Amino acid sequence: MANFYYATKGTIEPDGIRHLSIAEVPDMMENPWKYYVPPFRIAPHVWFVAGIHDISSYIVDTGDGLILIDCPSVHTVYLQLESIRNAGYDPHNIKHIFITHAHGDHYGGVRPIQEYTGAKVWMSREDDEDFAARLAAGTVKANDLFGPPNFIVTDHYDYSKPFKIGNMSIEIKLVPGHTIGSVAYFFDDTDEETGKTYKVGMHGGMGIDSMRSDRLKAMGFGMELRERYISDCTILSKRKVDICLTSHENHTNLFSGINKEDRSDYSAFVDPSVWENFMINRAEAAKLLP
Ligand SMILES: [Zn+2]
Repeated sequence: MANFYYATKGTIEPDGIRHLSIAEVPDMMENPWKYYVPPFRIAPHVWFVAGIHDISSYIVDTGDGLILIDCPSVHTVYLQLESIRNAGYDPHNIKHIFITHAHGDHYGGVRPIQEYTGAKVWMSREDDEDFAARLAAGTVKANDLFGPPNFIVTDHYDYSKPFKIGNMSIEIKLVPGHTIGSVAYFFDDTDEETGKTYKVGMHGGMGIDSMRSDRLKAMGFGMELRERYISDCTILSKRKVDICLTSHENHTNLFSGINKEDRSDYSAFVDPSVWENFMINRAEAAKLLP
């Protein structure tokens, strides 16, 4: 993978990959087919299935049903389902939906997929309660851009033990900062063809703009949220992670790892330096926030 970390949205990489600008996101929601990104494999049992540019969604094939991580928008669900099928999976086999954090671009499409599949929907207790309080207070409203927050959270993550399903044992860590209840996932994934096992990691709340002091204050949070984020990123940077999943493609120039001839070839995503650099880069950037 190219050695870029957290590219600015709207820029073009030397290899021609363009990061969508924030101004383009409304058009992507209005005309998502124009921004279709076919699925690609990123780890032995993990596929990118968002079906759109900029925002991620992943299928994890556990061997006993599928876990779907994040559902970007109600407007793009059909492309997400198409992606899951094109990756070779039946969406009805989704047993769990994991939400990285309570922002519209990650939960917007949860409701139709929850209803279509009957999957359990997981969110952190911290985000769920904070989010419910803001909904009740009217400070969070239906988000037309991504879809209203009208899904049902059936379960809260348990940080005290791994989430075990099929061949997967997923460690879930609370990593507050981007929201009060953002989470990270860590699991081993073995490729049966090669016998190799990779450590896969995803920090689901890496956007740092929400930790500007004015925005923290507006949300009723103190500076300790930013300090916790910096501390967590610094500690997590020392973990060995072979394959880094990101919740937005610009975070690690994710699409540079796609093998266009063979989208099931995930080899370019195996790079332990990506995770470490990404964590350190974001911790350093957060320290410079106003
Ligand atoms: Zn967010």
